[in-house]
Amino acid sequence: MLNIGLTGGIGSGKSTVAQFFKNKGAYLIDFDVLAHKVEEPGGPAWKQIVEEYGSEILNKDATINREKLGDIVFQDKKKLETLNGIVHPAVFKEWVHRMEEIKKEKKDAIVISDIPLLIEVGLQKYVDLVILVYIPPEEQIERIRTRNGFTREEAEYRLHSQMPIDEKLSFADIVINNGGPLEETRKIVEKYWPELLEREQSKRKRETEQ
Ligand code: ATP
Repeated sequence: MLNIGLTGGIGSGKSTVAQFFKNKGAYLIDFDVLAHKVEEPGGPAWKQIVEEYGSEILNKDATINREKLGDIVFQDKKKLETLNGIVHPAVFKEWVHRMEEIKKEKKDAIVISDIPLLIEVGLQKYVDLVILVYIPPEEQIERIRTRNGFTREEAEYRLHSQMPIDEKLSFADIVINNGGPLEETRKIVEKYWPELLEREQSKRKRETEQ
């Protein structure tokens, strides 16, 4: 099994690239989905979040209103750190569990984990390879404005609450430039796929030789 961390910046195209890899046969683990799961009522992070931010951030059905929570934490670095301190350990546990399940199902799986904060949180040491989905910051603003209907100010606010994408470049083993048309990005993914299969094979060979 090859364990790949896929990251980028907000709106750089992580989900898009992850889907292209899935089409090639990769297993996907989406950290946003894992985070939702641990934040569901009764989930391992839900109670702590409500204790920290109050029941005002809940919907009528007791689910967390992510927009309200987002409004709070994206305006206050400390509050964002506190939230991350609750959610990240719970997500990490889910991640490990999911990887164990995949390994049982397919020992030669290529697993792509879409991890927005991979570098910020320092998860590099838990993956075999880091893939960075890159577009220039100005294009990030354009894409999230189009996708979310944000004003320029809102888009910039979210962008600036993150580590700049250019600072992430040096952490990447592979950089996928998603600045061009989708078809071009799909071709880049296809170009890298055989290399990932080879890396998986040689990793497994090394492990059996040990
Ligand atoms: P987030 O971190 O916000 O979840 P993401 O990194 O997963 O975002 P996507 O959701 O894949 O990014 O892409 C952001 C937006 O840009 C989407 O609306 C997507 O359809 C669009 N997009 C992705 N790649 C391209 C491309 N090559 N050309 C044009 N638009 C693109």
